[in-house]
Amino acid sequence: MWFMEEVGELSAALRDRNDPNNLALEFADVLAWLATLANIAGVDLEDAMARKYGDGCPKCHANPCVCGSAKP
Ligand SMILES: [Zn+2]
Repeated sequence: MWFMEEVGELSAALRDRNDPNNLALEFADVLAWLATLANIAGVDLEDAMARKYGDGCPKCHANPCVCGSAKP
């Protein structure tokens, strides 16, 4: 639930873009909560990212994705 609240705050910061420092801090909050949830669930997030996106996008292999299929 905290994670979803942080995603909402990031979404609002992305819409506003008035405060680049706040935007950066909202990204940090989302990443911190995502890492916390992965840790609680026993998921090695670094390993999961390497397995799924280690070669870039699974479809176009670009990093960042240029085809749009790497959306979660
Ligand atoms: Zn792609």
